[in-house]
Amino acid sequence: MRAAVLTEAGRPLSIEDVTVSAPLPGEVLVNVKASGLCHSDLTVMQGKQSHPVPVIMGHEAAGVVEAVGEGVTYVSPGDHVVTFPIPFCGECRNCLLGRPNICSASPNRTPDQPARMTIGGEAVGTFALVGGFAEQLLVHERTLVKIPEEIPFDRAALIGCGVVTGVGAVVNTAKVAPGETVAVIGCGGVGLNVVQGARLAGASRIIAIDMVADKLDRARHFGATDVIDASEGDPVAAVQELAGGVDHAIEVVGLASTFEQAFGMLGPGGTLTLIGSPPETAAGSLNLLTLLYERRVQGSLMGSARSRVDMPRIAQHYLNGTLDLESLISAHITLDQVNAGFEAMLGGGVARSVISFV
Ligand SMILES: [Zn+2]
Ligand SMILES: [Zn+2]
Repeated sequence: MRAAVLTEAGRPLSIEDVTVSAPLPGEVLVNVKASGLCHSDLTVMQGKQSHPVPVIMGHEAAGVVEAVGEGVTYVSPGDHVVTFPIPFCGECRNCLLGRPNICSASPNRTPDQPARMTIGGEAVGTFALVGGFAEQLLVHERTLVKIPEEIPFDRAALIGCGVVTGVGAVVNTAKVAPGETVAVIGCGGVGLNVVQGARLAGASRIIAIDMVADKLDRARHFGATDVIDASEGDPVAAVQELAGGVDHAIEVVGLASTFEQAFGMLGPGGTLTLIGSPPETAAGSLNLLTLLYERRVQGSLMGSARSRVDMPRIAQHYLNGTLDLESLISAHITLDQVNAGFEAMLGGGVARSVISFV
C-alpha cells in the first residue's frame, strides 16, 4: 500500500510503497477512506517536535475495517471507524478516573515484536500511533472508534483530532457554562471547533482572534459573536475593551506570546486552557499577583476526550445538525498532493485539507 513518509525533518514527505503485516492479537487493519492534514503533523515535519524517522505521518483518519486480529471484539470487518491517537488501557489510575486521554499504560506494540510495517524490508513507524496518510492502517483496536455509516468519511475523519480537540477542550476541559464569555486565539481547523463548541455550550460571547481575515470570517460562520484581527493592534486590549476580561481564554496556537496574551484576556476567576501544540522549547511567563485572583491555567490534551464516549456524541451532533463538519473542509486532495496541502496550511488560507482515498 502507498503512504506519505517523513524520512528527515525539514524535508517534504515522500510517497512510498509500504508492506503491511497481518493483524496480531489486538490489532486491526483498516482501509483508509479519508485523512485530514493537521498542524501537529507540520510541527513534527518541520522538526519543532522531535520524532524518530522514517514515519508515516497523519493522525486524523476514517475508514472501513478490513481485518481484525485474535481477541478483537470491539470492531468487525465492514465497520466504519475513526482514529484517536491515544489508545486507553482501561485499568490505570487515570483511565479509572475517567481520563483515558492521559492513560499511563497506553497499550501498543511491544518493542520485541517484529516490525508491523516495512519499506524495502526496513521498519517504518506511524505518527501518533495512527499513520493516517496511508491507504491502510494497522492499529490497536483501542485506537479506533466506531461511527454511524451515514457520516461521509471526509467529515468523519476530522472528528478524530480537530473536532474532538476543539469541542472537547470547551466541553470537557474548560467546562464552559451557559452565559460565560470565551476568547479563542487561533481560528484554524481546531480553533473553529472551539468556536462551535462554545456555541454548543451556550457561551454568551465568543470572541475569535486571528491574524488572517478569512479565518475570522469562518469563525463568524461557526458562531463567533465578535472577531479581532490581531494584526491590527493589541488583541489583549481589544478583548478587555469588549468584555472587560473573559471567563475563558482558549489558546490554540501553541506559542509563548499567544499564551501570555490569552492570560492577559482573563478576568478575575477566569481560566486559560492551552490546546496549541507548542515547540519543545516553548515557555511562557505569568504575573503571579494576577494569577492569585483565582485565575487558572490548564492544558487540554485531545480535548480531554474519552474517545468511545465523546466521538460518537460528536457524530450524533453532526447528524442532528448541531455541529457543522462540512464547512471545516476547505480542500479535497489526493495522497500525492499532501505536500502542497501543507504549503496551503502554511499560507494560512485553509481550515482543513482532507486526503480522499478511492
Ligand atoms: Zn491533530
Ligand atoms: Zn490507562
